[in-house]
Amino acid sequence: MNKSGKLEVLIPRCLCEMENSDNLQIDEENFASVFVAWEKGFVSELKPINIENKKPKKILFPRFVETHSHFDKSFTVGEFPNLKSTYEEALSVNLEEHKTRSSRKVIERVEKSLNLALKNGYRAIRSHVDTYETQDNKIWDELFKLKKRYSSKLKLQFVALAPLELWDTPHGEKLAKILSKENCLLGGVLVPPFRNKAKLKYLISNILLLADKYKLGIDLHIDETTVEPGAGIKILLETIDRLNIKVPITCSHLSNILSLNNNQILNLGSKISEKDIKVIALPLTNFWLLNRKDKSTSLNRPVAPIKQLQKSLVDVSIGSDNVQDPWYPFGNYDPFYLMSLAIPMLQLNPWERLTLSAIFLSPSRLLNLNWDGLLKKGCPMDFVLLDAEKWADVFSSNLKREVFINGELYG
Ligand SMILES: [Zn+2]
Repeated sequence: MNKSGKLEVLIPRCLCEMENSDNLQIDEENFASVFVAWEKGFVSELKPINIENKKPKKILFPRFVETHSHFDKSFTVGEFPNLKSTYEEALSVNLEEHKTRSSRKVIERVEKSLNLALKNGYRAIRSHVDTYETQDNKIWDELFKLKKRYSSKLKLQFVALAPLELWDTPHGEKLAKILSKENCLLGGVLVPPFRNKAKLKYLISNILLLADKYKLGIDLHIDETTVEPGAGIKILLETIDRLNIKVPITCSHLSNILSLNNNQILNLGSKISEKDIKVIALPLTNFWLLNRKDKSTSLNRPVAPIKQLQKSLVDVSIGSDNVQDPWYPFGNYDPFYLMSLAIPMLQLNPWERLTLSAIFLSPSRLLNLNWDGLLKKGCPMDFVLLDAEKWADVFSSNLKREVFINGELYG
């Protein structure tokens, strides 16, 4: 197999690290012209190209990292549609789907998702997996087998997404022990309005202590609503302070804090960053599901305020969330679909470092991957190569791409 090659390409300047960059040609959209060569699957040479009128006609991106998906329910929308397109209806249809769930069906959906993700240019995925008391634990054995089978091409990380109450049962503790052997995370939902705050505080303490006991991380769907801005994150922060423990925590969504004022967001951001809590903004499902009005159009949608959070030094990633299920009926495990929608939607400039950091670098840190995603000498030749010369080409719908995995062309 040929694991060597060479290319002249454009790459966003902030995604490329080189020793001698004095002559580096950088265009107005911050693409740098570089020569890259690789041997045995690793980048062996990287240098500036500095010849006038000879700008490369290809763009190189590191393979992508998906920080938040739900591949156990992907592609169920045909059988379980949510034609009202509301959060409440999604939940109710989701519970209907659970009644017909089997390990075989779940594995089929996961495999379909992973094959698409590979073809489209992902190198790692964190996915939530619906978890409930009556569920057969055999599903986890199947998922772990799949994780192993794909491991040379795609790194997988699972979050057991359960009602918080489940982590307070013997079944929950047994599962936490199983998950700890496979580098999984505990998951839950923390969405206001909260009816019984005392009970909620108890349940949050409990999941934190359980995670601490088994050295697990936590990833919560938190504040994914329009009401009570920041109610969930505030209870979480108070509880962490009270227990004084250090568990790796991810807050997925954190949408409603957008309606706090700017100072309040920045203050909350400092506390989030102080506790090293990572945040995932999920604009697609938020824009689709939340604050929906029957008879009027509103552009008032809550989504994690990326820029303010980054200003407070919070490590923010952008993720996709659902694919063709009752929560979001579109999507295809394609990072370019996500970028094409999310970047204009959130008014993020693709030529800026912080934007690309939320797409490439923060996600690599979140999943604790071996490679940070920067093109440099010695890094794996794990890249997506596009027939493109500018950002407008990247966001066009007829994109020709080639995916390199360990220096070899995939597919
Ligand atoms: Zn989700």
